[in-house]
Amino acid sequence: MPRLESNWSGNHVYAADQVLRPRTLEELRKVVAAEPRVKALGTRHCFNDIADFDGGVQIDISDLEPSIDLDSTANTVTVSGATRYGELASFLHARGFGLPNLASLPHCTVAGSVATGTHGSGRRNRGLASAVTALELVTADGDLRSFAHGDKDFAGLVVNVGALGIVTRLTLGLVPSFDLRQTVFEQLPWPALFDHFDDLQDTAYSVSVFTNWANDTVDQVWLKSVDEPDPDLFGARPADGPRHPVHAAGMSAENCTEQLGVPGPWHERLPHFRLGFTPSAGDELQSEYFVPYRHATAAFEALRSLGHRIAPLALCSEIRTIAGDDLWLSPAQGGDRVALHFTWRPWQDEVEALLPAIEERLAPFGVRAHWGKLFHHQGNYPMLSEFRELRARLDPNGVFRSPYVARNIG
Ligand SMILES: Cc1cc2nc3c(=O)[nH]c(=O)nc-3n(C[C@H](O)[C@H](O)[C@H](O)COP(=O)(O)OP(=O)(O)OC[C@H]3O[C@@H](n4cnc5c(N)ncnc54)[C@H](O)[C@@H]3O)c2cc1C
Repeated sequence: MPRLESNWSGNHVYAADQVLRPRTLEELRKVVAAEPRVKALGTRHCFNDIADFDGGVQIDISDLEPSIDLDSTANTVTVSGATRYGELASFLHARGFGLPNLASLPHCTVAGSVATGTHGSGRRNRGLASAVTALELVTADGDLRSFAHGDKDFAGLVVNVGALGIVTRLTLGLVPSFDLRQTVFEQLPWPALFDHFDDLQDTAYSVSVFTNWANDTVDQVWLKSVDEPDPDLFGARPADGPRHPVHAAGMSAENCTEQLGVPGPWHERLPHFRLGFTPSAGDELQSEYFVPYRHATAAFEALRSLGHRIAPLALCSEIRTIAGDDLWLSPAQGGDRVALHFTWRPWQDEVEALLPAIEERLAPFGVRAHWGKLFHHQGNYPMLSEFRELRARLDPNGVFRSPYVARNIG
């Protein structure tokens, strides 16, 4: 197979020698057992070399027999790792089920999203990996191993940055399907965000705040709520039409999910972007940092002080919240987090030069970086040494120890 040239954003050209697409589980197991350097590849939506292994093989499992098996008694679904969230969500909704949360885009694979600790927003909503109750993994020796919630080390296996093997199937816990409405507000005064950040979280199921950190007011607040929100949102006003998060740079809202408070199913409101359309701005880079929820407003102050340096490089920046979990490499391991996301103009050198300053300002709060986006240092993951031991046990010869893994995990 030809090698894939680059990731989705085009800022990382893959250095792996080839991409293999096994058609059967047996073939996959043989390849993994035979190859000395292996890395799983999802839909390539990460912004760094996390899915790469120079001189090795990337394995794309999307040609394995696809499966979505619903267990409506246990309220679980078991999917192949290459299943994309958008396809899974339509399947579940048609059968009366839902997932508690989704990321801003439905385009990514379940295995890739879970491996990187992908999340949506909502003070009471945990990251996508928290829905995983079991998984199957082809380990470095070609064995197929099954793990379930409650097994020793399960909390280390789920968010795994692709360092433990190839995840072939995952089981996810479900909720009944539900409806939400999405309403965008504009021009929230900064003092209102500082004074009412907690109250704001309580106004909706999921809240996203968009800013460039430098403007006089907060540009947009997106509420995804069960009930119609109060039109007076701490001084912000409802938008008079659909909005793109990068509205200020003139982006049309055509690729965004429906807004203006029209009720609709969970999977057509929780992502910001629609499957089948380019998500976000397209020509961009991303970074994201997580700090404990209790430090939210102090972190906002820290970023406001860098607003003059952030604004020229950022297409937009998004503030979200995530409920805490116990998954070792999850950004929300150990407690609730506020997520500080940046959609950057595609100016890698300038962005890379600014990241250390952002990380330095956020360091006093125990900052962590999103594994799949651009960062200088991954930050404060206290279970890293446990994960390192688990990795060494499952992969003693370093078959999955790519340069990214060596650099960030050890
Ligand atoms: C426009 C855009 C919007 C985004 N929005 C969000 C968001 O709202 N929230 C958020 O948290 N992130 C977001 N992201 C980041 C995105 O969630 C991650 O990039 C996600 O991990 C990508 O999944 P993927 O299928 O593209 O995986 P890839 O980028 O291909 O791979 C990511 C990692 O997963 C591993 N992996 C993939 N498949 C397997 C497998 N079968 N077994 C083992 N490991 C595997 C790879 O080895 C690699 O380590 C966004 C990215 C983009 C481009």
